Amino acid sequence: MAGLPLRLFNTLGRELQEFAPLEPGRARVYTCGPTVYAYQHIGNLRAYVFADTLRRVLEWKGYEVVQVINITDVGHLTSDMDEGEDKLELASQREGRSVWDIAAHYTDVFMGDLAKVRVRPATVWPRATEHVEEMIEFARALEEKGYAYRLEAGLFFDTSKLSDYGKLALLDLEGLQEGARVAPIPGKRNPTDFALWRASPTDAERLMEWDSPWGKGAPGWHLECSVMSMKYLGERFDLHTGGVDHIPVHHTNEIAQSEAYLGGAWVPYWLHNEFIGLGETKMSKSKGGTLLLSDLERQGFHPLSYRFLLLGSHYRNQTEFTWRGLEGARVAQRRLLERLRERIPAGGEPLAYDQAWARLDGSARAHLEGLDAAVSADLKTAQALAVLTQLSRDADVPAGDLAVLVAAFEAVLAVGLLDLAPEDLDPPARELMLEVGEVERLLADREEARRSRDFASADEIRDMLDRLGVEVQDTPTGTTWRVRPAVGQREAGRD
Ligand code: AMP
Ligand code: ZN
Repeated sequence: MAGLPLRLFNTLGRELQEFAPLEPGRARVYTCGPTVYAYQHIGNLRAYVFADTLRRVLEWKGYEVVQVINITDVGHLTSDMDEGEDKLELASQREGRSVWDIAAHYTDVFMGDLAKVRVRPATVWPRATEHVEEMIEFARALEEKGYAYRLEAGLFFDTSKLSDYGKLALLDLEGLQEGARVAPIPGKRNPTDFALWRASPTDAERLMEWDSPWGKGAPGWHLECSVMSMKYLGERFDLHTGGVDHIPVHHTNEIAQSEAYLGGAWVPYWLHNEFIGLGETKMSKSKGGTLLLSDLERQGFHPLSYRFLLLGSHYRNQTEFTWRGLEGARVAQRRLLERLRERIPAGGEPLAYDQAWARLDGSARAHLEGLDAAVSADLKTAQALAVLTQLSRDADVPAGDLAVLVAAFEAVLAVGLLDLAPEDLDPPARELMLEVGEVERLLADREEARRSRDFASADEIRDMLDRLGVEVQDTPTGTTWRVRPAVGQREAGRD
């Protein structure tokens, strides 16, 4: 494959490893997808932008990539430990619509958001509810091999049957055994055992249930990913991705049941993105107390400025979302586009490594190698952006070479280098982007932040308002605000 060997941090073993596919020239990737009971927030989007970056880098280097992202529309309970209720059923009760309507609505919005941040569509998007028969077959095979036992609550996987259970998460099994709470499910043999099949309660009907050898019920959450990944990628495939929260339970259990099923090793590379924290910022959270891509858009940000922000830190760094950070990303992205547009026109197609290499020579190739060095070292996108920024300032690079190089960067980064104009990133030229009530609410939040001496949040709110065209003035008698007149427009309120 083109360029340097690709090195990735494998959670399994906790080390950087050179990627070697099972089949030459092909990379098969499974990305744990959303549970479609609510909107996916901007934190969730990081998981898909990360998986998309992995895919783009693989393709850029010449691999043929098959990627599967599942849609979880049954089986994910409110607790990952087989307790609580199915998230889809709860949402159906909460919203007064069928589970099918819920799943369809949130899946649509999810796919729309992915498109906006230029996450390419998966090769296959399997839905859990369409694979229940296959899940039953898989669980039956595990039972036949002696890995499962029946309880009133359903069919459970016996984790003590595997000598290396918990290897992904480096679980301390003895500690878990000692620290286990009173078993929530009567008869469970080990605290780490998990449901392959959850039997319906005899006194109540579930919204989603199927017949099975273990009675009416629904599949366990982990089962779907093992079954659907093997169906569409082959029993053994190369890479499995997800957020770090999946390491201790979900991915640990996927590995356990799959290796028991296959009688040997399953997926060699496990990649996980760290979380982006949403706790700090108080502003403009949608219903449900979380931030959505649509919230960022409502504040006048282009979705690709969010992608730019994400790529500005390594996927394994834990970061905190702030409006100020997003504004910083927007400004940096805008400056970059300004410099590029001064020298090369918009247009053209993204270029793979080999295609770009063939069109460059001499010193221009060194810039391509700079990009390759960054992404081949565990997908260091922030470093790639730094190389690109430097390149955009380098007057010695002829415009023709620059155009080829930018097309190569865009293939990997997908931040609008070929098609966006700097102005596309500006907030729409409206007089006031906020409702008056919203301004008042933000000012009240700012007042509260100041009272509790949280000056960082207070400043952040003021900056935010300023950016949106609201001038805030603190006077001895209190705070006042007015809409700043837009350039070329008359001041609001005067005629
Ligand atoms: P879920 O719908 O809860 O299964 O989550 C979808 C994906 O988003 C999973 O890969 C999670 O690990 C990931 N995820 C959830 N919250 C965050 C966050 N704050 N930052 C980054 N990834 C997240
Ligand atoms: Zn999964």
